[in-house]
Formats: sequence, structure tokens, C-alpha cells
Amino acid sequence: MIIKDLKVAVIGNHPVVRITTDQGIDGIAAAESSKPYLKPMIEFYKEFIIGKDPTDVERVMLGIRRLGAFKPWGAAVSVIEIALWDLAGKAANLPIYKLLGGKVRDKVQVYNGNIRFKLSHEEYLNASKVGDALSPEEYGKIMKKMVDLPHKFSIIKQGIAFHGPQAIQFPNFYYGEKVNIARHPNSGLITQEGFNYMMDCIDAMLDVCGDKVGLALDCGPGFTVPDAQRLAQALEGKNIMWLEDMITGDYTPYVLADLYKQVTPFTTTRIHTGEQIYLRQNFVELIEKNAVNVLGPDVADVGGLAEMKFIAEYADLHGILFAPHGTLDGVLGIAANVHLAATLPKNYIAFELPNAEPEWWNDILTNTDKLKVTDSHIEVNDLPGLGVTFIEDEAKKYLKEEDKDFFEN
Ligand SMILES: [Mg+2]
Repeated sequence: MIIKDLKVAVIGNHPVVRITTDQGIDGIAAAESSKPYLKPMIEFYKEFIIGKDPTDVERVMLGIRRLGAFKPWGAAVSVIEIALWDLAGKAANLPIYKLLGGKVRDKVQVYNGNIRFKLSHEEYLNASKVGDALSPEEYGKIMKKMVDLPHKFSIIKQGIAFHGPQAIQFPNFYYGEKVNIARHPNSGLITQEGFNYMMDCIDAMLDVCGDKVGLALDCGPGFTVPDAQRLAQALEGKNIMWLEDMITGDYTPYVLADLYKQVTPFTTTRIHTGEQIYLRQNFVELIEKNAVNVLGPDVADVGGLAEMKFIAEYADLHGILFAPHGTLDGVLGIAANVHLAATLPKNYIAFELPNAEPEWWNDILTNTDKLKVTDSHIEVNDLPGLGVTFIEDEAKKYLKEEDKDFFEN
């Protein structure tokens, strides 16, 4: 079997890749819904993979892996890798988890970093606030809504400080100029009143979580080392699942493991990072120096499924836990993460559950009922490849004019 074509369509906001073969079998995968602009970047790799045997996944990847980079640019390589595994699974009539070494668990735990309750304009105006920032009481109320979701999430993540609106909306959160654009550009030393406000919000959420739901906090990037030390130590003994990306993190195109090394060994609060990092080589320092306690790469940014498996195994050898990022990876991302998580070693905690965005994604794919969450877990399915495929007649309704030939062979 050889690869005949690589096609890309933007469906909803997800760039979706479809790799076709001379034998009529295809493989699919999607990048984050925040990256519709990636379409030409994915198409760039076409000439490097045409004519190769897609079931020799690693051999194909050797031809393109070095032509990627940290988030967002590693996503193009990552989705090609996932689509190759989907294709190889369909060709062998086996679920992807069998190709990655077989499953070690029948259901996989997920956490909530995605189903949030954003306030309407009117609710925001009526909410209790400190300056423009929501009050700790409001943080508690929003957390209660998340705890009450039918998924019964065992871990819930909320954004604080530089990850989310606190750094911008609280009047005097930190010593620095506020930049009100997306992707977390702010950083600096946090003021005492900013720190107290942040702690009050965390305590309000902890009160709601009790000891039944682990509270994970997405914090940055943007913390200085002293503030990272201070927050981690102030939360000692509380039910914090992890502090994510305090120093470097989302959209930081480097690692700087030594900065985390100044925090992690000096606190019992678990420190987490990794969602923007591309390739196993860029995790070596974090892992070998035990610079963090939890790693959270994203399968659709790090280089794909086998890349994740390698990093998780190497982390496990160093006593580091694993909680994959995935919030914007969509339904195809859920499917990929389920197969991966089924194969990961005992350091696996949970992956961040993406959702169908827009909801019609559940209508254009087969077997989405197999991805439902019960008691914070998803059963591992035995369907070939990713286990979900496009229902072409339904999916075609959402193809843009320039992508009309997406399903043609
Ligand atoms: Mg994050």
C-alpha cells in the first residue's frame, strides 16, 4: 500500500487531514480548533509522504518530523502522524491501541479543562467583582456548576493569574504593563493584593471541590520564579492536583527546565508543564532533572501518538506523572487520546477532555456514542483505527467551497 494524497479541509475551525492510499483506505486526524490557519502548513508535508507505505508509520515520520516546531507549528506534523496510525489501524483491522503495544486499562480517566461556564454580558454585569475581576465568591459558584456536571469529573482545571482574565481584570495584579491580547502575553512580579486575591479565589474553589474533586490550576505562563515558589508553598497540604505552566507554558517556544528546578524540589504541591513542547528531545531536560512532577503534552502538538507514548514511558522511569493536554482537539482528539491513554504506564492520571465544537461534530462522525464520559472515564473501544470515521454525506454539508473535493480519492 502507498500514500496517494494528503488532503486538508477546515471543518468547523479544525484543520482536518485526510491521507488516502492506492487501496482505498484512508486515515484522518484534526488539529486544535484554534488553528484553522494551519491548512497550508499541513499541505507543505504532502510531497514528503506521497508514495510511502503509510503502515510504516515511523519511516514516514522520519521524513517530516524534523520539519516541525513548538506550538503551534508542530501540530501539522502531529496530525499527519495520528492520521497514519488511523490508517495503519484500519489496514490491520485493529484499534490503534493494539499498534501502540496493547491496552493496560479498559477505561481511561478524563479531566475537565474545557466545559466552563462563561458568564453572559448581563451575568457579568450582575456578578460580584473586585474592580473588573470576578470575586472569589463567583469563582466558587462557577466551580460548583462544573462539579455538578453529569460527567462527574474527578479533576477540574480552572485558569488563574496570567492564564485567564485575573492578571488583566484585577486592578493591580502585578508590576507590569497589561497587554490585552490572546495567548497569555503578560508576565511579571505579582503584587501582594494580587496574590491575596488569587489565593482567595483558589480557596473559594477548594471549598467547593472538597476532597472529592482535585483542583488543577492553569496559571501562566508569566510567573517569576519567586512567585511560583510562593504560590506552590502557600498551597501545601491543600487539594491541588497540579499547578500548570506557571513559568513557561502555552505558546512559549522554549523550555528552561532550570527555572522549574528552582521550584519543584522545594514544595509538595505538584508542578506541571509541557503542552506547547514539540518532540521527545525537548522533554529530556525536564524529565532527567525532575524539574516538574507532571507532564502534559498535547498529542496534536507534540508530534503524535508514538511521541506521547515515548515521553510518558521515559517520564515514568523518573517518577514523573502524565496528564495530557487536549482541550481544543475536538472529537477526533478524544478518539486519539482514548487509544493512547489505554496504553500508557502507571504514571497516567487523566487527559483533558475536548468537546465537539460546534456540536454537529457528533453528527458527522460514526461511533461518537463510544466516546461518552461516565464517572470521569471513557471506555476503550475496539473499533479499527481511531474508531471514528466521517459520515461523508453529513460531513459534506460543512465543507467550505474550496474543500469540496476533500472526500474524493
Ligand atoms: Mg494549559
